[in-house]
Amino acid sequence: MKVTLLKAPVDRLTMAQAEERVAELVRGGGARRIITLNPEYLYRAVLGEPDLLELVHKADLVTADGEGIVWAGRVAGTPFPERVTGIDLMLRLVRRAAAEGWKVYLLGAAPGVAEEAAENLRRRHPGLQVAGTHHGYFKPDEEQRIVEDIKKTAPQLLFVALGAPAQEKWIDRNIERIGNVTAMGVGGSFDVIAGRVTRAPRWMQRLKIEWLGRLIREPSRWRRMLVLPKFAWLVLKTYRGAGC
Ligand code: UDP
Repeated sequence: MKVTLLKAPVDRLTMAQAEERVAELVRGGGARRIITLNPEYLYRAVLGEPDLLELVHKADLVTADGEGIVWAGRVAGTPFPERVTGIDLMLRLVRRAAAEGWKVYLLGAAPGVAEEAAENLRRRHPGLQVAGTHHGYFKPDEEQRIVEDIKKTAPQLLFVALGAPAQEKWIDRNIERIGNVTAMGVGGSFDVIAGRVTRAPRWMQRLKIEWLGRLIREPSRWRRMLVLPKFAWLVLKTYRGAGC
């Protein structure tokens, strides 16, 4: 079931249900899109960037990534069963891909990272078929060649790690040309899977302060995080009235 959060339709699914939904999309064929929605993206989408909102409407599956979205769901009276983050969903889908025989393609991150991530995933899931990898620092005139490479290798799942919203725009520009693929933007996931960046410790994830761990490791993110209080205010204003 979808709920509308600040004009954006978001699926109310557990992680296991999201995985099943993706399996249906893959089985059904065609060009399919997945967005793992975080507060930064949603804030930009509803305040001034309608093209980003349109991409959310076009997506076949939109998950509640980020504690901020889960919190907003509670405030709006439409709680999400749990958080479905890009990296966790990707890891489940890779496990599923190995079991089902789906091929995966990894596009994005610095040169070498997608290959390392693929290697680690193959080690974890020996049957996994990696259709191909490509780094994410290409010039616009190289895009066509990359799209053709992806099409030729015919993956069922395409993970795009260019950061949001560049990855969602990339998918929108190119997915129809690739054709039969389910594509999902995964942000910095390849860096984590390759072991270049470590995720916040479990206790921080449990306390729902993974964002704080990330800020400590990558202080340059503070500017992006300034949007979070603005997002919180917008949610409170919308669902609790201005005088909240
Ligand atoms: N990236 C890329 N090409 C670019 C800019 C970024 O491949 O032109 C990669 C970058 O190396 C990193 C990911 O995109 O692996 C973005 O990670 P970030 O954590 O910033 O994304 P978020 O999860 O916040 O969307």
